[in-house]
Amino acid sequence: MTFKTLDDLPEDIAGKRALVRVDLNVPMADGLVTDKTRLTRIAPTIEELSAKGAKVILLAHFGRPKGKEVEEMSLRPVALALEEVLDHRVDFGSNCIGDIALKEVEEMASGDVVLLENTRFHAGEENNDPEFAKQLAINGDIYVNDAFSAAHRAHASTEGLAHLLPAYAGRTMQAELEALNSALGNPTRPLGAVVGGAKVSTKIDLLENLVSKIDVLIIGGGMANTFIAANGAQMGASLQEADMHDKARAIMAEAAKNDCRIILPIDGRVTTEFAANAPVEIVDFDENTKLRDEQMSLDAGDKAIKNVIAEFEQLNTLIWNGPFGVFEMPPFDTATMATAKAAAELTKTGRLVSVAGGGDTVSALNQAGVADDFTYISTAGGAFLEWMEGKELPGVKALG
Ligand code: ADP
Ligand code: MG
Repeated sequence: MTFKTLDDLPEDIAGKRALVRVDLNVPMADGLVTDKTRLTRIAPTIEELSAKGAKVILLAHFGRPKGKEVEEMSLRPVALALEEVLDHRVDFGSNCIGDIALKEVEEMASGDVVLLENTRFHAGEENNDPEFAKQLAINGDIYVNDAFSAAHRAHASTEGLAHLLPAYAGRTMQAELEALNSALGNPTRPLGAVVGGAKVSTKIDLLENLVSKIDVLIIGGGMANTFIAANGAQMGASLQEADMHDKARAIMAEAAKNDCRIILPIDGRVTTEFAANAPVEIVDFDENTKLRDEQMSLDAGDKAIKNVIAEFEQLNTLIWNGPFGVFEMPPFDTATMATAKAAAELTKTGRLVSVAGGGDTVSALNQAGVADDFTYISTAGGAFLEWMEGKELPGVKALG
């Protein structure tokens, strides 16, 4: 993994134009930004460049306007929210290319920050059209990519630009790549992973990649039901995928070949009602388990929780994607909360490097109140999952 960072910037950056690709896909309601987390994350890169006297020109997409101007997907309201987070004026240019962008950039002084309109208002962005990339590049002397979450897409502003201008990783991109590398690229072993969530079918590539690289694979969630059923059990009305049994068996065989142990839940929280606070029975799971037709397992049981925590205690590095149960509904949050807290404690004492990601995983860890105690939590969604699948991310590759 080689890429330049802001430490490698030329000495004479003052007065130079830095085109900075950021992630501004913030939640909005009624034209107002409702969660500024993503803005806080990109602030260090913007502040550092501005403090060094660069002219900071921000590029980002918002939503899926599919190559057309869509008023509700304008970045204008985000400029205001960003101004508050940075405590620094942020001007707005209502087009990311052409005369409007040119004029906006010409008027900048050293240290100024300008946000240009949604790159996806132009079809050339998602097509990675070299002509469009050139039109973006006209306004920059250097290119900084601080949007890891968009790095799995080879678009003009995430990939194309890196070939046209001297390219650097921003601080958030750098932190993300360093954290991910310490977890899967060059980890301190034993290395384990929790893979949970709803379905095997959405995470096959990820499971296949992991079993060849890690020492212990701990499976939870609905996908654990599929594995247990693939071993011969009847899982009643539990979420499970009958057409994935062969795949599950193949993954178990591949794991055995690679000396990767697979840990399945040895018991589960079983109910007949998919509802919060439904009555629960804890049932042991093995290949002979026969749940009744109306019974479903919505979370791991107490023995499974103990077992998972005992595994965590043996690890030096843990990667986590996917909850153990239907954590949105008590008491089916029990296993996810208990194991998340255990991983956080081990991390706090310096025993464990813990890296987690995935949309629902991040909400579950927030719900457990442990998000700050993990070594690193990736909010990158799709890019994080593709990284876990072992794929090379085009936006990262282009920085190399
Ligand atoms: P992530 O977004 O972190 O990648 P997923 O989307 O794969 O995670 O999975 C999260 C979803 O899986 C949650 O909505 C959760 O309710 C569901 N889930 C977990 N365990 C079960 C289960 N045993 N039965 C049904 N759904 C489950
Ligand atoms: Mg999800």
